Parts: sequence; C-alpha cells; structure tokens
Amino acid sequence: MSWTAAGPVLVINSGSSSLKYQLVVPDTAEVLASGLIEQIGESSGRISHSTGEQSWTREDPVADHGAALTLLREQFAAHGPDLDGVGITAVGHRVVHGGSRFSDPVVIDDDVLVEIEKLSPLAPLHNPAALAGIRAARERFAVPHVAVFDTAFFAGLPAAASTYAIPAELAAEHAIKKYGFHGTSHEFVSRRAAEVLGRSTEDFRVIVFHLGNGASVSAVRGGAAIETSMGLTPLQGLVMGTRSGDIDPSIYPYLHDAAGLSIPEIDTLLNKRSGLKGLCGDNDFRVLDRRIADGDEAAERAFAVYVHRLRTYLGAYAFALGRLDAVVFTAGVGENNARVRAAATADLEHFGLVLDEARNTERSRSARVVSATDSPVTIMVVPTDEELAIARKAEQLVG
Ligand code: ADP
Repeated sequence: MSWTAAGPVLVINSGSSSLKYQLVVPDTAEVLASGLIEQIGESSGRISHSTGEQSWTREDPVADHGAALTLLREQFAAHGPDLDGVGITAVGHRVVHGGSRFSDPVVIDDDVLVEIEKLSPLAPLHNPAALAGIRAARERFAVPHVAVFDTAFFAGLPAAASTYAIPAELAAEHAIKKYGFHGTSHEFVSRRAAEVLGRSTEDFRVIVFHLGNGASVSAVRGGAAIETSMGLTPLQGLVMGTRSGDIDPSIYPYLHDAAGLSIPEIDTLLNKRSGLKGLCGDNDFRVLDRRIADGDEAAERAFAVYVHRLRTYLGAYAFALGRLDAVVFTAGVGENNARVRAAATADLEHFGLVLDEARNTERSRSARVVSATDSPVTIMVVPTDEELAIARKAEQLVG
C-alpha cells in the first residue's frame, strides 16, 4: 500500500439504521477498505466489508451504534487492513445539519457534541444518528474526530436565497431558513468540474444536479453556492426517490382536513411514500427504466414529472447565475442514467445546451464532458466522492 506522508482517514457516515465507513488516503484517494453495517437496532443485521480485492458479508443482529463500531473494528481485525498499524490521522464524521452554528468542519469535543445535539430538532432523523456514531467512535479511536456538515457549503447563501417569506421574527426565533444539504458533494463536484475543464473556480458558473435517492441542485458562482433546492430540511426541491420535493404548503392542512391525516403521518407520507415511489410505486431508477421500456404509463408519468422539475430548476438557476458555463450531473442517477441527462437538457440549443448523444450514452466512471464540442454550455458527468471530500477536510483540519 502506498500512503506516505499523512496516514489514512476513517470516514464514518452514521444513519439511523445503517453505518457506512471508508478508510481512505486523502492525498492519493486510495480506498484501503470500506463497509456497510445495516439494520442497526433490528432483529437481523447485515455487515459487509471490502478491501477492494475481496469482500465479506455476514448476517448478525446489531443492537445499536456502539455495537456497530465494535463490529467495524472486528471487520478490520479479521480482514484488514490493521487499523492500529496503518496510523489513522483522524476520523471524519458526516453530520447532516450544522444549522447556523457550523459553516466549517470542526474538531469534535464535548462542546461541539452539545451544539450538534441542540440542532437535532432541525434534523430529527439524521443528527441523533450521527451523534450516536460519533460517541461510539470516540470511545474506540483515540485520534482527533472531525465533523463535516452537509449544510456547510450553503452557510454563505445570499440572504435573498436563504430567507423564507414568513414573519421575520418568527423565522429568527426558530432558526427557519434555507440551509441546503448534500453540500460536501456539491462543493467537491463543482470544483472537480472546473479542474477537469482547466478553469479557475473564481471565474466558473455551474449548476450541479446531485441525483441520488435524495436529490438536490445547486448554483455555484466563483466557488460559492448562491442557490440550492433543499431547504430547512432535505424535503424541499426536486422530485426524489421517496420525497415529494416542492409542493404547495397548503397541501399539509388540506390533507389533514380532507384525508384525516395527522402531522406525523403527513410528514411520513411526504418523506417516505412520495416522489417517484408515490407516483408509480418504485423509487429505483433501474426498475423505472425497465418499466418505461415495457410501456408502463405510471412509470412514464413519474419520469415526466421528475424531468420537468429538473428543467424548471435548470432554467431558474441559469438566470440566478446570469451566465452559465457548465451543467454537471452526479450521484447514482446523475452519473448512470443517460436518459435523465438527455431529457433534462433536450431542446435547449437556444439557451446554449447541446448534448452529444454518443458521449452521453458512453459508459464510463470518469469525470467527462457529454455535450457537443461546440456547445456554448458544457454538460458534464462528474462522479461524486463524499467520503474522499470528508477525509480531505478532516486531514486539512488536523494535519
Ligand atoms: P443515495 O446515496 O442517495 O442513497 P445513490 O446516489 O446511490 O443514492 O443513487 C441511487 C439511485 O441511483 C437509484 O435510483 C439507482 O437506480 C440509481 N443508480 C445507481 N447505480 C446505477 C446504475 N449503475 N445504473 C442506473 N442507475 C443507477
């Protein structure tokens, strides 16, 4: 293995029922190992570990995040690399909500934990899970632990973009504003796009579509985000796998009155049973593609709603930027689904977007241009790597 100066960083992404980890060398991007522990707190659990060359999976219940971290250590001890021998410099933790308090990565101490805990009402599913992972990891790894926040890249959004038009005092009292999410990915991908094109970020205006199960779009000018589609929570914006994205807020009270649903039921409905799944029953784009190929009307309608939302954001964000240099697609759907990219950018020659069909349908894992050579706006696919971005931020802070 080839790390030299700085040792690897262990990156932990701790969700409510799963914990993802990766041991990565920040300088070289070399992934030494990665793994996933699923169904934490359920009667059956699943643990998988990979060193690149080889993978192992086993089923075992995982009681809580403490047990998950013990299993993580066991996986490394059994299959390598030797965690105590590789000289980990830091553990980097993904934390979804940094509120107004955190706009940069921080070394975690007891005060930081209290601050993250205070933000839990803003992210009730995510922050408590991250805290559980951090607490368990701090007990087991005597190196600096760094929190990297999903919201950080958007902390500097212009007030005109981040302010909701509700009574100002109420918004201030309850910290209600647009925070934005997937920031680590939007930042990484927008910088990488400039790098691939040989442009300086200072003079680069780009729209990034992060299209995974969760999906968001950002407008980035001179390296800084000026708009993004997710809001106070990750529910706002694009149509997602199971989330509605934008709706008329009056649908909330209307559903309460007309369908007799409680507020928690409506929240679950909009987060877990809406989006593509609500429209056609499936939220995996690979399944959706197969159904569309078979002429399934519900799947076709879901695709049309999904793409229409992408296009309206594309237009809006191009105007917010004033000039558009590039449109970038990333994450599971953005990187792999040529049909989505084609539909999102079709018939926009008038606005300077000319896709190259052959480039767009070519299979590749590299960052690449998929627009025509003479397209005034460059259309790109840039694979995201949130773990590497977190590892680099953690290393910068403690290195
Ligand atoms: P998240 O990290 O938000 O859970 P991902 O970025 O993994 O989500 O994206 C999940 C989505 O990407 C799914 O809809 C899946 O169908 C799609 N996807 C992932 N890999 C591929 C692939 N190789 N081809 C087509 N679609 C893919």
